[in-house]
Amino acid sequence: MNHDSTVSISATERAYLRRCVDLAQEAVEAGDEPYGSLLTDPTGTVRFEDRNRVKDGDATRHPEFAIARWAAENLSPEERGASVVFTSGEHCPMCSAAHAMVGLGRIVYASSSEEVSSWYQQWGVTAGPVAPLPIQVVATQLQVIGPVAEFTEEIRGLHARMLGVQSPD
Ligand code: ZN
Repeated sequence: MNHDSTVSISATERAYLRRCVDLAQEAVEAGDEPYGSLLTDPTGTVRFEDRNRVKDGDATRHPEFAIARWAAENLSPEERGASVVFTSGEHCPMCSAAHAMVGLGRIVYASSSEEVSSWYQQWGVTAGPVAPLPIQVVATQLQVIGPVAEFTEEIRGLHARMLGVQSPD
């Protein structure tokens, strides 16, 4: 939402993002990309979580997309709207669209797509086939919170590890 600074979050929100970053690490260790996400219901219970699973060839296997599909099958429209999705990395356009189309609620993310893009540029990594648009460019009515600075270095390190580049300190 704010591209020049980061936001502060509650201890509870921090714990959910912590879990997302742990899932992102698990993904890298499995040979996938460093993204993890979870969905909480209005009571704060984690109802679903997943991590990136693209290594076997299906590039749409993003955790935020999995959340949207799970929510469409398992939650009422009211429950979806009252859910909050936490994620280690800002939704890509595909996931932003899926999130909005199934009517999910607020998003809290740790690293922005803009941050990840700038790291890849610094490392000389070729840009992917999908533009790194902010969530709200794709899904204009969503309430979005992020990026959260305290996770930035750790997530940058996970991307560096996946790509096999040295992450400059
Ligand atoms: Zn995505």
